[in-house]
Amino acid sequence: MKHFIIFGPPGAGKGTQAKLMVEKYNLRHISTGDLLRAEIKAGTKLGQMAKALIDDGNFVPDEMVLKLVKSEIAHHPDASGFVFDGFPRTTTQASAFESYLKSLGMDVNGVISIIISDETVMERIHHRALIEDRKDDMKDEIIRNRITTYHAKTEPLIDYYKKQEKYHEIDGEGTIEDIFAKISLLIERLSR
Ligand code: ADP
Repeated sequence: MKHFIIFGPPGAGKGTQAKLMVEKYNLRHISTGDLLRAEIKAGTKLGQMAKALIDDGNFVPDEMVLKLVKSEIAHHPDASGFVFDGFPRTTTQASAFESYLKSLGMDVNGVISIIISDETVMERIHHRALIEDRKDDMKDEIIRNRITTYHAKTEPLIDYYKKQEKYHEIDGEGTIEDIFAKISLLIERLSR
């Protein structure tokens, strides 16, 4: 099994690239954002707790996303690998995730980090707001809060994975195809 983390700020294009990785390399996509939005849509207790936090651009509690991720992994024992998108987002999530994978005899094979500027993040989210109906994409104040939270809570994971020699950067400013070509080369190198 191969496990990749697609990493980067909100709006970096993680979801778009993850979907292409899934098609080409027969992986399963685990997006904690999508899982949370599905819980909200289904009106579950977890979804009800998560809704206000997400709408305001805040993280949901670590235990909540860990529960969702563990359940997804456990329900797909025959998957040939996973691409984790939007997870882990805090060092607490990363270390709990590492222990969980270890208990299953698994490990993260590589972290693919999409590098884009805060200005591009703003532009992309403004564009996405025209296509998808997400409350957290509507207000600049909320988008800025998500960018600030990314720098404060998620960026420390770069060092975490650098220490494990699993961290790889991709320039995220080109076309979808250009970026995916670079990701493909990386995955093929990491899978050897
Ligand atoms: P984006 O990439 O634009 O941030 P996501 O769909 O990945 O969009 O996430 C949407 C929201 O869901 C986040 O702003 C956060 O509130 C919540 N969320 C998603 N993943 C996590 C996570 N791993 N930990 C905490 N909150 C999360």
